[in-house]
Amino acid sequence: MNKLGIFMNFWEKNWDADHVKYIKKAAEIGYDVLEFQAQPLLEMTDDKLKSLKKLADEEGIELTYSLGLDPIYDVSSLDETVRAGGVTYLQRIIGQIEKMEGTLLSGVSYAGWGTPGCVLDDKKAYWDNSIRSMRSIIKTAEDCGVTYCVEAVNRFETCLINTAEEALSYVAEIDSPNIGVLLDTYHMNIEENSIGDAIRLVGNKLTSFHTGENNRTAPGKGHLDWDEIFNALSDIRYQGRIICEPFVMQGGEVGRDIHVFRDLIDNPCEKKIDEEACYILEFEKSMLKKWMY
Ligand code: MN
Repeated sequence: MNKLGIFMNFWEKNWDADHVKYIKKAAEIGYDVLEFQAQPLLEMTDDKLKSLKKLADEEGIELTYSLGLDPIYDVSSLDETVRAGGVTYLQRIIGQIEKMEGTLLSGVSYAGWGTPGCVLDDKKAYWDNSIRSMRSIIKTAEDCGVTYCVEAVNRFETCLINTAEEALSYVAEIDSPNIGVLLDTYHMNIEENSIGDAIRLVGNKLTSFHTGENNRTAPGKGHLDWDEIFNALSDIRYQGRIICEPFVMQGGEVGRDIHVFRDLIDNPCEKKIDEEACYILEFEKSMLKKWMY
């Protein structure tokens, strides 16, 4: 069965948090994968990285990493100093992931997270710079055994890759076994004409998959058609990770960056979020059994 994972900031309002606690929690609930922001890896000593990896192995948890790239490291930037700095930054992150024996980096990591906020009649200059940067970054990823997942996200979070089709074009231009596409149901709901068709279009280039409702609550609680989604995953015989990525709490860095301006569940205390995490695992297992196994 596909590995099922959860994003750490379902529980936490700030991007950095107690990774030890959430490795144990994810294992206790029954998840296979814990995903978290890659940035804190740069602030960890080698001993710290080693101890987290050891704990994850003991708990049977695979660690994967995601990034909403800080615009100061925008690898699509028209400012050469910023662009080159971004390449170095991402290569350093990949190096830290290698130390963790990790294999997956995802997110908006092909451009600074956000939109340029200017009149943009043509995005080709940004696209070309991002491709140029990625050609260097992907060499490091190949050397380190890390797969780079290009996540198509909605128009309010990037101007470069909003759809499955754009993600595929980008990956085709880079042409490396270490780059693939990440689709996320929340973003697809905004940008795609058909979520099922978008999944089928990506086919065997799909290297990771994020789940979340139309409003980023737990899968099954909003109005997305989960039969359509799992049916399409079955059509392409997807065997990769499925990582749920709900955000339901107002406040903190996460509320600011994800634009969560109200609590999306009543009283989102730790116990309540734990219960939601258990529910999601059961829901996704039941959908996998219904459509794929
Ligand atoms: Mn996502």
